[in-house]
Amino acid sequence: MTNQLTPMPDDWQRALAIVAHPDDLEYGCAAAIATWTAAGREVSYVLATRGEAGIDTLDPAEAGPVREREQRASAAVVGVRSVEFLDHADGVIEYGVALRRDLAAAIRRHRPELVITLNADDTWEGTHWNSPDHRAVGRAVLDAAGDAGNRWIFRGLEEPWDGVRWVAVAGSDSPTHAVDVTHTLEQGVRSLLEHRAYIAALTTEPPEAYVRNLIEGFAQQEAARFGGRPAITFRLFPC
Ligand SMILES: [Zn+2]
Repeated sequence: MTNQLTPMPDDWQRALAIVAHPDDLEYGCAAAIATWTAAGREVSYVLATRGEAGIDTLDPAEAGPVREREQRASAAVVGVRSVEFLDHADGVIEYGVALRRDLAAAIRRHRPELVITLNADDTWEGTHWNSPDHRAVGRAVLDAAGDAGNRWIFRGLEEPWDGVRWVAVAGSDSPTHAVDVTHTLEQGVRSLLEHRAYIAALTTEPPEAYVRNLIEGFAQQEAARFGGRPAITFRLFPC
């Protein structure tokens, strides 16, 4: 594990992050997003679901609106104002043409140069099984980045957009690139902390201690491969 990570490209203006659930971007990658918005770049979020099945003690009808509010607050902390929800059903998102079409439509609407998503591998670091929603959405995002540019498929949606230059996968076991988050780690902590109802149901630890340990831990984990700087890592796929 001595391979050094390459700095993420920064010659772009517009990014779109597409994930399955509220909190997917905040568990790790929000501090990187904060560095980009601080530099004047535009980042938007698209979530396949409202995460309505994510709180055991709360009925989905109540949890959906709560989690939507928490996601919007989390986004605001890192300078993201555009947050959309696609109304897929939490926990049972199906990988397939319908999902690819929805995501391609989102990419055509937002016209990003960089698309960000979350680990779609079977596992997290070979030890924890990944969720079916993460696997479905992450794979469909990688597919939809190409679909968005093909005028002959998904016709009748928005104008094709073939301007996606990279898809960056956060939380990958085999990252290639990283972002120095020295100055935005605190925003990353604050962003995850906005998922108050979710975190309260998840742990008995004081929320701030739980979140700080986690986010600072992620960022320090890869520092040795990035000049000792706290880093958020990505596996970068050129398009
Ligand atoms: Zn998730």
